[in-house]
Amino acid sequence: MNFSYLQACPTCGAPVELDETDRIIRCPYCEGRNYLLQGGIRRFTLPHDLPAARSADEVLSFPYLRFKGHIFTCQEKEVAYKIIDTTQLGNQIYELPPTLGLRPQAMKLLPLAGHGGGRFFHLSKKVKDIFMQAARITDAFSEKHGAMYHRAYIGESVSIIYLPTLPDDDRLLDAVLNREILASCSLADLENVTSSYNERWKPQFLPLLCPHCGASLEGALDSLALHCTNCVSVWQEMRGRFARVDWNLVPGKGDISLPFWKIFIDFTGVKLKSLADFLRLTNHPVVVQQEHEKQPLAFWIPGFKVRPREFLKIAKNLTFSEMKLPCGEKELGGSLYPVTLPVDEAKQAVKTVLAHSVLDKKKFFQVLPEIKAVPGRCELVYLPFEKRAGDFLQVHTGCAVNSRLLDFGRTM
Ligand SMILES: [Zn+2]
Ligand SMILES: [Zn+2]
Repeated sequence: MNFSYLQACPTCGAPVELDETDRIIRCPYCEGRNYLLQGGIRRFTLPHDLPAARSADEVLSFPYLRFKGHIFTCQEKEVAYKIIDTTQLGNQIYELPPTLGLRPQAMKLLPLAGHGGGRFFHLSKKVKDIFMQAARITDAFSEKHGAMYHRAYIGESVSIIYLPTLPDDDRLLDAVLNREILASCSLADLENVTSSYNERWKPQFLPLLCPHCGASLEGALDSLALHCTNCVSVWQEMRGRFARVDWNLVPGKGDISLPFWKIFIDFTGVKLKSLADFLRLTNHPVVVQQEHEKQPLAFWIPGFKVRPREFLKIAKNLTFSEMKLPCGEKELGGSLYPVTLPVDEAKQAVKTVLAHSVLDKKKFFQVLPEIKAVPGRCELVYLPFEKRAGDFLQVHTGCAVNSRLLDFGRTM
């Protein structure tokens, strides 16, 4: 479940309500359009409500790590998955509540932006360790599923949500609800375990302008791929600037075009260069022909978030059916569904999709840890889908995506 927050417009400073997954901030006051950069972990705070006599400089904020994403595991003879959506206390100095529960969703958060004053407790463990701790609670990690051969995190978003507290004699008060959170605590040594606000935590923005021609870039609020219809180009943020995306759109009579990351992989530990190699390894009931031998293998990973089961099914079916697809063109027309899964996460999904595609999983999982998959060339390809009852059907291959799950994926 997503949270929303109030972000000051980078152009005029007016508060604009954003969803956790939004990348574009469109200001209703000055009409400025800016893109939120991805660098580093984003930091938010629950808004405090202090008694009149107290000052914001006295506030002590505790970090909770927020994780949202899917874990895929290859264990014994199946690919299992779990959706993770949780907050975990990131500093264990005091006996504070281990999670924030639904509080972030129940109120408007604020991005951490200096003006609040006070001090911020450090994370006492590495982000990955806290994540593993959260993940272990889920059943996907239970040992009853047998040895673990591979694990991947997809669609993972990590942010920090601070809980503001206020020292009150020996007690510590929750500064949001103004009630006791710790009956007694000694606040010695604050210098070593906390920091004041760091300017680097401030959200950074880029104006939404095409680096090539200067025209406006277009995209849905949560889109990671931005389109310039003036010079017909597609861009994504890379290390603080817009970089060109290698893209094409496969023509066809559809109602909507869904984005896929088409990824070529350099495998070691297994022979997987052509589609024929893939058909043989996965042992699917298809007669391998000369044309399969000539077709270089590419994985087709959804460029959008969708339930894990559906994600694996679509990726597998399209990877098998690539030869039915005509060549793409450089056209930016029709209804383009936003890219919401970053290319780096699509790359991390490749081994899981491979494992899911193999029929005899039990045998294949034994060799899975020895297989290395190094991503090579990567393209963004929009494929036409036709609406039929509750599904979107890919018009050339017949691969189906449940339209209800697609809507659900926007909030994942
Ligand atoms: Zn504005
Ligand atoms: Zn342009």
